[in-house]
Amino acid sequence: MVRIEKLRKSFGSHVVLRDVSLDVRAGEVLVIIGASGSGKSTLLRCINMMEVPERGRIFVDGQPMGQHKDDGSFTVFPDRVLNEKRAQIGMVFQSFNLFAHLTVLDNITIGPVTVKKTPPAEARELAMALLEKVGLAEKADSYPSRLSGGQQQRVAIARALAMKPKLMLFDEPTSALDPELVGDVLATMKQLAEEGMTMIVVTHEMGFAREVADRVLFFHQGDMLEEGTPEAIFSNPRHQRTQDFLRRVL
Ligand code: ADP
Ligand code: MG
Repeated sequence: MVRIEKLRKSFGSHVVLRDVSLDVRAGEVLVIIGASGSGKSTLLRCINMMEVPERGRIFVDGQPMGQHKDDGSFTVFPDRVLNEKRAQIGMVFQSFNLFAHLTVLDNITIGPVTVKKTPPAEARELAMALLEKVGLAEKADSYPSRLSGGQQQRVAIARALAMKPKLMLFDEPTSALDPELVGDVLATMKQLAEEGMTMIVVTHEMGFAREVADRVLFFHQGDMLEEGTPEAIFSNPRHQRTQDFLRRVL
């Protein structure tokens, strides 16, 4: 579902992604862990072209996300093409970024109606089904400010799913939540994983990683240092840096 080849990204002279290569199978749940500043968010943002890579190749479902030149350099597609490609990828951030002036239902229907030209009645039906799924059907007509952070994040997940993505990217989706609200969001993500969604999840929730991840990747200074099954990474990390990181967070 995702193929990344020698992805490089710098900000000024600071190399943030050092020729990262990575494959994610359809239906796989990949959890990325690593210290703050190691490049995890930049990696996710490159996948949907919120950051433009410097060099390398990115394919989602076999299709290139940018124009790959023979010399390894990278240019973005024109907006119309880029938007179609981005529509296949759902992204959920630490901050939920719901539209404050729209109801929960309208937050979910606006993407399908405006971007995918889905008829409004059909978009509403889908939105209600997604709200059922995340356990918030009764909040359809509420405004985001009336919801808890955990509820808002579940709406943000429903909103991303409304675009029928092939791939979901989660960047520390529970980091901004009060501890008692984290569980419901993780349960929603677990359910999505069980339904077969391909997911790349950056998180500090090691319990979630252990339980839900097919593969865990430890990111260090712009590259993956170690990857393996949750069991291998958590119980038997090979690298000293992985051991040090886990000792600090567990
Ligand atoms: P992580 O998500 O692992 O905490 P990030 O991908 O956010 O790491 O950041 C990796 C490095 O890139 C950090 O040193 C950060 O300061 C830097 N960085 C991220 N975005 C930008 C930007 N837009 N401009 C300059 N530096 C950035
Ligand atoms: Mg980050």
